[in-house]
Amino acid sequence: MSQAVADIGLIGLAVMGQNLILNMNDHGFTVCAYNRTTSKVDLFLENEAKGTNVVGAHSIEELCSKLKRPRKVMLLVKAGSAVDNFIDQLLPFLEKGDIIIDGGNSHFPDSIRRTKELEAKGILFVGSGVSGGEEGARFGPSLMPGGNPAAWEHIKPIFQAIAAKAPDGASCCDWVGENGSGHYVKMVHNGIEYGDMQLICEVYQIMLEGLGMSHDEMATVFEEWNKGELDSFLIEITRDILKFKDTDGKPLVEKIRDTAGQKGTGKWTGIDSLDRGIPVTLIGEAVYARCLSSLKDERTRASKLLEGPKNAKFTGDKKVFIDQLGQALYASKIVSYAQGFMLMRQAALDFDWNLNYAGIALMWRGGCIIRSAFLGKIREAYDNNGKLENLLFDSFFQEATAKAQDAWRNVIAQAVILGIPTPALSTALNFYDGLRHEMLPANLLQAQRDYFGAHTYELLSAPGTHHHTNWTGR
Ligand code: NAP
Repeated sequence: MSQAVADIGLIGLAVMGQNLILNMNDHGFTVCAYNRTTSKVDLFLENEAKGTNVVGAHSIEELCSKLKRPRKVMLLVKAGSAVDNFIDQLLPFLEKGDIIIDGGNSHFPDSIRRTKELEAKGILFVGSGVSGGEEGARFGPSLMPGGNPAAWEHIKPIFQAIAAKAPDGASCCDWVGENGSGHYVKMVHNGIEYGDMQLICEVYQIMLEGLGMSHDEMATVFEEWNKGELDSFLIEITRDILKFKDTDGKPLVEKIRDTAGQKGTGKWTGIDSLDRGIPVTLIGEAVYARCLSSLKDERTRASKLLEGPKNAKFTGDKKVFIDQLGQALYASKIVSYAQGFMLMRQAALDFDWNLNYAGIALMWRGGCIIRSAFLGKIREAYDNNGKLENLLFDSFFQEATAKAQDAWRNVIAQAVILGIPTPALSTALNFYDGLRHEMLPANLLQAQRDYFGAHTYELLSAPGTHHHTNWTGR
């Protein structure tokens, strides 16, 4: 019988697992490493983990025997059936009160199911979003754990120690909520990441095509933006990418084929928003923009067939317009986060989750791809009012969008005149205008539905009562 020496076991020695183990080791925790292909355990111990306190196991039984109680086992394996297989293999060697944590990119319905199934067996399940990629895993990821609340006190010291730290020193990890909520919040995080990236790309195309700016000029603008309200990881890396030259001295980014890939978490967010009836239009447009980008051959043919605006040229003041672009980007970003929080609010109602919105903003504040100064403002908004109905109703964001709106409208109007696509920037403004309209044309839509399908309508003066009209008099 091996001695129970390890604070936590970790299964899955690909990039995420290895880096999380080394991060835990740095913070004084003893980790027992295991992998399906067990030769990788030895390789890891002999190389990356050499000289650390990491121990290894060559079977699930050995892994479980080396863990202090309650046992904590974290999975960093490919999402899907591999997670269920490992849970099945672990169960014979676990006792009531032991904890299984899935840190992979699992879809939240699987985490809801696993929490329930394992609870019936006395095992505490946690589905945790892990963000920040390889670098984050090694030096401080954003961690979003949800699941069986009884697990939190046991994993909290490890999770909060290894997570990234916000500028005020707070850990970018807190308990998200019940069953699948950790993976849900991670899914929305990834959707927001799609949106943030698409917004930056649209601004890039306007600078390139509309203003004829060089990549170095653009890099300087991003450098400036990174010192103000747009300060964020994605603005920072965009500056670096724009500056980066290939061996021939030309910007490397210009040579990259303009077709974007995706792994599916943005799509999951879009689908879930449709299921829940929440207009998360910006993430939807960001997913579709990637789909359109991948139709490269069809676009190449279309570029020769379909007319754009004739002789359209930007004639305004470039410096003023660049400032307006920054404002349009900022206002659109506010809308995107407002939509993301609307979605999480609805999911919390649907699944009876008690979500901690200020905590979510804090978890995203550092360690992950969407980290930004702006998330500090979102945290403040929910700290001030945990029941805030809509982020746009917070006085800071209300004022910020009011201040930016003229610039935002001008940027989109110019892009339309120049024939430059701005799906995300435009949908953000359309959502903003839709939300602030007490009257939308859905009265006419209801009349149409009643005309052709006798679907009835309600009167403004008497909501809740249903009327039908014979519109043709026949
Ligand atoms: P990965 O390539 O997604 O998965 C490789 C690991 O999964 C290996 O340990 C592999 O074992 C194991 N595995 C694959 N299929 C298996 C199966 N059918 N049965 C048992 N084990 C199986 O690794 P990763 O990139 O480190 O990611 C790990 C998890 O974290 C994934 O869910 C991923 O989506 C998520 N994630 C990744 C990132 C990132 O930036 N890479 C960021 C956040 C979250 P073998 O060595 O035996 O093949």
